[in-house]
Amino acid sequence: MPEDLAASRCDSCSHLSSPPQGYCPEGCGDTMVETVISPEGVLYASTVIHVPHPEFGERYQVGYADHPEGPRLFGHVEADALVEPGTRVRVALELSDDDEVGRRVRTRFVPHTQQEVGA
Ligand SMILES: [Zn+2]
Repeated sequence: MPEDLAASRCDSCSHLSSPPQGYCPEGCGDTMVETVISPEGVLYASTVIHVPHPEFGERYQVGYADHPEGPRLFGHVEADALVEPGTRVRVALELSDDDEVGRRVRTRFVPHTQQEVGA
């Protein structure tokens, strides 16, 4: 079963953020409470980047996915061919330990059609 996503919810205005944030982006201040949300989303937009990256290779796909509870997340789409908007995706967050540039988060979207093939 896929892992729930780490998130935070504002105790004042209920704004939901994933990955978790220490401050409410709506300006309420230090009112965020840690929570989890389901790892499901729907791809809102995507594009293939053709500029090589040392970590991601010669080409890679990025996009935005809407979470049913509210947040629109940016991340890498795990697919070779362009994935169309409206495709259901499983969302995974990879949180690194703090290093010299701080804590890094990588968000990945796995289209449901690929999960079914790989299952
Ligand atoms: Zn708030």
